[in-house]
Amino acid sequence: MNLMLMGLPGAGKGTQAERIVDQYKIPHISTGDIFRAAIKNETPMGLKAKGFIDKGELVPDEVTNGIVKERLTKDDTKNGYLLDGFPRNMVQAKALDEIGQELDRKLTGVINIHVDPDSLLERLTGRYICRKCGATYHKVFNPTKVEGVCDRCGGKEFFQREDDKPETVKNRLDVNIKMNTPLLDFYKQKNILHEVNGNQEIQKVFADVKEILDNLK
Ligand code: ADP
Ligand code: AMP
Repeated sequence: MNLMLMGLPGAGKGTQAERIVDQYKIPHISTGDIFRAAIKNETPMGLKAKGFIDKGELVPDEVTNGIVKERLTKDDTKNGYLLDGFPRNMVQAKALDEIGQELDRKLTGVINIHVDPDSLLERLTGRYICRKCGATYHKVFNPTKVEGVCDRCGGKEFFQREDDKPETVKNRLDVNIKMNTPLLDFYKQKNILHEVNGNQEIQKVFADVKEILDNLK
């Protein structure tokens, strides 16, 4: 299964990705995670990306497309992959088509997690992430079972994303809402788009995702 998760920031892509990769044993490729790791390690690419990310803008396509292409050449994607946060516009979608063709890694399914945009601000500003394994939580909707301890890896350090501040979130949502419709149309036309209602409990969203993926296998 060569998959892509779509949805506005805060829709629940990362949360569902954790569950999908555990269940189907395919690698999770999140461009946002790749950029955050590069920023943390202060690589030249990270330094370039930081300015855009801090403003809630998209990182330039040539940088992002290059990263995805390089990642998809790795052997662990041979039996499937899960893209999260890429493509985010039509230039990237067309680049992914070419990459898929060239590397024999064509997308076979796109899942769009649809969430009422009014709930996204609250989701993003309450999000916190385990520093050790990257698991995502929410202070109200999805806290750790034991306070201060990651359910997934037992890690005890968490962080909030710099770009989850209310000032940045608004621009991120505007930027992504604008790009979303043409992308959805593009994948609908290819007959690989599946819609999921993201305004439900996390486990229920996953049950719906699983039903779709079990039919794709
Ligand atoms: P994305 O990767 O799409 O930006 P996340 O998976 O990081 O979104 O989720 C954003 C925030 O919303 C996180 O704090 C997460 O715990 C919470 N969340 C995810 N799915 C749901 C849901 N179905 N209901 C309520 N909160 C959710
Ligand atoms: P995310 O973790 O998916 O919410 O992404 C965080 C930030 O990383 C975005 O607001 C962008 O600045 C950048 N980013 C992630 N994916 C992409 C992409 N496909 N194209 C451009 N920028 C991206």
